Amino acid sequence: MGREPMRGQTDAAEHDENLYPAARLDAAREAATRAGLDALLICPGADLRYLTGYAALPLERLTCLVLSAEREPFLVVPALEEPAAHASPAGALGIEIAAWDETEDPYALVAARLSDRIGSVGIDNHMWAEKVMAFRAALPGARQELAGGVLSELRIRKSPREAEALRQAGAAIDRVHARMSEWLRPGRTEREVARDIAEAIVAEGHVRADFVIVGSGPNGASPHHEVSDRVIEAGDPVVVDIGGTTRDGYCSDSTRTYAAGEPPEEFRRLYEVLLTAQRAQTEAVRPGITAERLDAVGREIIANGGYGKNFVHRTGHGIGLEGHEEPYIVAGNERPLEPGMAFSIEPGIYLPGRFGARIEDIVLCTEDGGERLNLTSRELAVLE
Ligand code: ZN
Ligand code: ZN
Repeated sequence: MGREPMRGQTDAAEHDENLYPAARLDAAREAATRAGLDALLICPGADLRYLTGYAALPLERLTCLVLSAEREPFLVVPALEEPAAHASPAGALGIEIAAWDETEDPYALVAARLSDRIGSVGIDNHMWAEKVMAFRAALPGARQELAGGVLSELRIRKSPREAEALRQAGAAIDRVHARMSEWLRPGRTEREVARDIAEAIVAEGHVRADFVIVGSGPNGASPHHEVSDRVIEAGDPVVVDIGGTTRDGYCSDSTRTYAAGEPPEEFRRLYEVLLTAQRAQTEAVRPGITAERLDAVGREIIANGGYGKNFVHRTGHGIGLEGHEEPYIVAGNERPLEPGMAFSIEPGIYLPGRFGARIEDIVLCTEDGGERLNLTSRELAVLE
């Protein structure tokens, strides 16, 4: 699903310097030096937006933020994008915006500004391969490495202003779930319901809907199902997993499972097991608990309820300027949680061919526990 920021947004929130503080540029330069990288090359995407606030569209023409220890940061942009770059929060950072003309070679321009002694460059993880290759040719002496680790370590702890942006995103998607009875009922197809939900995602405070999953009856047993033309039947359990991106660039993501009329008896039993697990996991969030322990808290409850082999995915993923980012709440991730980390808690139980259920909240790790950013009721909602 496309998660690239839109170009040319100039709303007030983007100009809030607390959301994109200039100090991040120095923090990134220092982190790069510690990682043994002489420079960072950052093209349009979440990393560029995090560092500058500039929601540039990825294009074939090169836009690239260059950070190195030896000189001041500069942002290379195509001449025709220069006004947009200046109008973005990047224009208020006090960095040089170097425009290149249509017939110039922007890679040579970057190389000429970096010293010959550059031995290694960190390339942002989502840079297009053709740009990576062009930088390789322009900087033949520089070893290329991924910059993702350096950037994700900065992005993994949200500032108070970022936490507020995620809180607003959570409230926006909660308003959509709160309206579900307007759309979800027997006789309508998943696709019809999803279309209404996508419209509401924008109407309730996002610039776009990133995904809409409506999995009714047996389709709910497939965690990767999106939508189909299946007609929702009376008594169907329906998994609704939805998210969008707000003007600030921060993502929402919340799942609730509904029943289109009284569901089968076993579904109610399964749902109680799932709800107990998801509640226990959200309550277990605190600094110091490891990601894998948090995963296990829910997995043990679901296994004891008899559905261990039906919880087929990790518990959750981090969220911020991207819908999926560090930290991942998964077995094998021994990293202790820290205040400022934000991630989903989304256990699910899936009975192939019959039905499934998932409950998902975004949770922020605080100094002394966890704060749920999705607050709609987690009880099974039976819509008549
Ligand atoms: Zn989700
Ligand atoms: Zn999720």
